[in-house]
Amino acid sequence: MSNDFILALPKAELHLHLEGTVDPPTLSELSRRHPTPLPTTNNRYRNVEDSGRVFTEEEARALYEYKHFTGFLWAFKAVTERLRTADDYELVTYRMMQKLHAQNVLHAEVYISAGVVQWRGQEFAPLFEGAERGRQRGERDFGMSLYWIFDAVRHFGVDEARRVVEEAMRLKDNNVVGIGIGGDERRASPEQFREVYEHAAAHGLRLTVHAGETAGPESIWAALRELKADRIGHGLRAIDDPDLVRYLADKQIPVEVCITSNVMTGCCTALEQHPIRKLFDAGVLVTLNTDDPDMFRTTLLKEYQVAQEVFGFTDPELRQLARNSFRASFLPKEKKRALLARL
Ligand SMILES: [Zn+2]
Repeated sequence: MSNDFILALPKAELHLHLEGTVDPPTLSELSRRHPTPLPTTNNRYRNVEDSGRVFTEEEARALYEYKHFTGFLWAFKAVTERLRTADDYELVTYRMMQKLHAQNVLHAEVYISAGVVQWRGQEFAPLFEGAERGRQRGERDFGMSLYWIFDAVRHFGVDEARRVVEEAMRLKDNNVVGIGIGGDERRASPEQFREVYEHAAAHGLRLTVHAGETAGPESIWAALRELKADRIGHGLRAIDDPDLVRYLADKQIPVEVCITSNVMTGCCTALEQHPIRKLFDAGVLVTLNTDDPDMFRTTLLKEYQVAQEVFGFTDPELRQLARNSFRASFLPKEKKRALLARL
């Protein structure tokens, strides 16, 4: 059975937001832990309407039903609001790793939204300690590895992004491998983050940028030229520019493709329209990822299955995707080689 084949493939996941792995039962549990509005010292911060509201599992499920990108950002915010203590972070990190392990994911590079925490006026480092406890337990119990990527939010601006990078530099010895920037591309151009990205690179951090998700190819070009991105998150709209596709393929710049996410947020109009097949055939270093699996009701196994069933990926091609996931990772060469040998 092909699904057994997909399960048996050793895989890495490179575009995964910790907050997006909080499933409805866990969100319900977190909301019961924190049945009061989030205290904040940032007077710019506006609590979402339901701050402090206790969700049943059903209500948590309903929160994850949305038809556009803004609705998704609201759901994401509702989750981050309920991640308030180190214990919360430990819980969700460990549960995430449990789910990855069940899919034979041997390595993950996980975005953690330091930007959101800082912006709402909370110190990130004490919370990150909990995430680290979760990672260490998970690595021990599941025999997998995990790197962190500290994520800033574009539309919170450059100063917030700078604080995220500084925090990543301070905590670098705790498996923090790089930085990323997500959020709404239409509301903040990449150019303004150039100096922040240069600073991060100078301190040995790897660079990722969500680009070509909610904006066109010019956003991807800017991520490459202005921010010197090592990897492109989504890269969906690269397909609108043949020169860009050729450039990505020539330079073997990894693209973190998230098919279901693109459809669920409306960034891609229909599943069949997704450019994954075209990008792959053009020789782009494509990797498959889930983005926010529980918010999009997907898993990495399902993403491989979609590639197989909707886009006709053969078993050798699926194996190639798995191989790409290790090649595109920020693991050291020897570790990459050892994991690739298992394919
Ligand atoms: Zn993402």
